[in-house]
Amino acid sequence: MGLIVQKFGGTSVGSAERIKNVAARVLEEKNNGNDVVVVVSAMGKTTDQLVTLAKELSSNPSKREMDMLLSTGEQVTISLLSMALAEIGISAVSYTGWQAGIMTEDVHSNARITNIDTKAIEKKLTEGKVVVVAGFQGVTDSGEITTLGRGGSDTTAVALAAALKADKCDIYTDVTGVFTTDPRYVKDARKLLSVSYDEMLELANLGAGVLHPRAVEFAKNYHIPLEVRSSMERESGTIIEEEVSMEQNLVVRGVAFEDEITRVTVIGLANSLTSLSTIFTTLASHHINVDIIIQSTTGFDTTNLSFSIKTEDLEETLHVLENNKETLQFERIESEVDLAKVSIVGSGMISNPGVAAEMFEALAKNNIQVKMVSTSEIKVSTVVEEKSMLAAVQVLHDTFELAGNKVKA
Ligand code: ASP
Ligand code: MG
Repeated sequence: MGLIVQKFGGTSVGSAERIKNVAARVLEEKNNGNDVVVVVSAMGKTTDQLVTLAKELSSNPSKREMDMLLSTGEQVTISLLSMALAEIGISAVSYTGWQAGIMTEDVHSNARITNIDTKAIEKKLTEGKVVVVAGFQGVTDSGEITTLGRGGSDTTAVALAAALKADKCDIYTDVTGVFTTDPRYVKDARKLLSVSYDEMLELANLGAGVLHPRAVEFAKNYHIPLEVRSSMERESGTIIEEEVSMEQNLVVRGVAFEDEITRVTVIGLANSLTSLSTIFTTLASHHINVDIIIQSTTGFDTTNLSFSIKTEDLEETLHVLENNKETLQFERIESEVDLAKVSIVGSGMISNPGVAAEMFEALAKNNIQVKMVSTSEIKVSTVVEEKSMLAAVQVLHDTFELAGNKVKA
């Protein structure tokens, strides 16, 4: 007998019928002799609808009140699921984030979990109950309700699995696992049997929406085996673990992509020792997330600097730079919108030189211009025009033979 944490996403709990289906999946796990903690998201598109509702009343609502509002979505699901469980003879109790002892830092809308006091949950488990916990929310030391960022219910589940020393954490969702790329856009995308924590972390950070990046971070740090699987279909999903077996050790395991990227170029930036640190410290202090950075030295006194950001941050970025023009000392700013980031990820790259070259060659052959590049040991990211994004994804999926069963040593 073990302890399993099961997490069900919004689509999986999107209607009364689906909640009944979830209750049945919980029952199966109970019948296997396991203790079960269930984490749920808000039903269907509830969170989006609440955001829309808030926008009708305020163009810039307070983050505290947004957290208060959005945390209600999950509270609906926990009570309904507990009722559905009772109907099929399982004694269950629902807990909001604070009742479950989920403590977070004092930041609204994107808080990190700092600690979980598991006493209350453990007590209910010893009584033989299933504990149903609201995902995506926690509480600060001073009793304020916080949320963990969109998609954060995954993180609740994995953090609980770590704190409770669970044997496994199953993430039930509307797809059957983690794919080589998004199967909605690439028909021959294939479900992966397993992915390493590091690969999954890159994929999640590079735009694969299937798991919240922080959830993967937790799983890696606490060695929690994760399985991403379907709540509707009965097939096994994708295991995320430390080491992935040799046979499946493809050089490239997946292609991730993200649209709405903008390139900003600062022209004629004063070439001093501190100019880079000043510019990025200034942007960071305004919570602007800079991704790829390219510096090219042009003259003796000045340099040109390009970096990529999410397009939604463009207005703010331009504003911040122009406002600090005197301190930063630059000539002018140019920006290029309608770009996208396309990345290949795989642990096998560490020992295979030439993967980046193969990637650029394939893109060039298909007339796809690469505007920016960044690499790590296990990924290569390129920025391309948004209109070529899906073509680039397909080309790379083909080039690295991700659809077939071919094994590259
Ligand atoms: N309900 C929240 C969201 O839609 C959290 C989650 O589902 O993980 O982002
Ligand atoms: Mg999600």
